[in-house]
Amino acid sequence: MTKNQCEQMDESFGWDVRQNIEEIRANVKEAVQAAGRAEKDVALMAVTKTVPPERVNVALQEGICLLGENRVQEICQKAAFYRASKDKIHFIGHLQTNKIRDIIEKVSMIESVDSLHLAQALSRECEKRGMEMDILLQVNIGKEETKSGFYEEEVLDAVERIAKLPGLKAKGLMTIPPRFSGTLYFEKMQELFLLCKEKKIEGLEFSVLSMGMSDDYREAIACGSTQIRLGRAIFGERPAAKPH
Ligand SMILES: *Cc1c(COP(=O)(O)O)cnc(C)c1O
Repeated sequence: MTKNQCEQMDESFGWDVRQNIEEIRANVKEAVQAAGRAEKDVALMAVTKTVPPERVNVALQEGICLLGENRVQEICQKAAFYRASKDKIHFIGHLQTNKIRDIIEKVSMIESVDSLHLAQALSRECEKRGMEMDILLQVNIGKEETKSGFYEEEVLDAVERIAKLPGLKAKGLMTIPPRFSGTLYFEKMQELFLLCKEKKIEGLEFSVLSMGMSDDYREAIACGSTQIRLGRAIFGERPAAKPH
């Protein structure tokens, strides 16, 4: 696809995306009101894995101001076609230390810092470039083998250590809880988030609790999520993942 083809979209292109976003906004509004919270306190991120850039641009046109990218290779291929600058792009996938250099200039936040090792490597790269990167600590709240991230009992210590690393600004927590588990893990995350805030760790400004996906964003909002990450609810079902 060329940039020109992106420009030539007719009005009906992406109608489903527009409609989905409208519905989601109504649901968010309801959930926010039920929780006695303010709409502006919950950011809506569009998760773009496998979605062609012209459809991502429809979401941007609809006023979505955050994109979540999972894969290093996909960012590198697609970012140039987005009508969005890097301040609207967050990395949310597992990041190998040898790929840090490929994305560090392409995103404004890395939400998926899942080990001290990765935090240290990121810190070194940021220092070398004289830059600062916002990060979230990814928490494996369900202690699932298939997921990465800190266990809840490791989080406070990790936050304290990461707060001391130059070049990084830890802004909060991110999680992908076990599917269909109701509010149990979201409540745990909310507690953990408040615990970190109350600790008043020097230099730390915790403000982001990133949780809630297509199937469970309402529950996440009820438990204090400040950022929901939606893929399928916006763009529709993804093609089945290729076996590795
Ligand atoms: C894919 C993905 C999402 C979105 O998932 P949906 O179920 O499509 O809403 C959110 N967060 C992360 C980290 C993801 O990988």
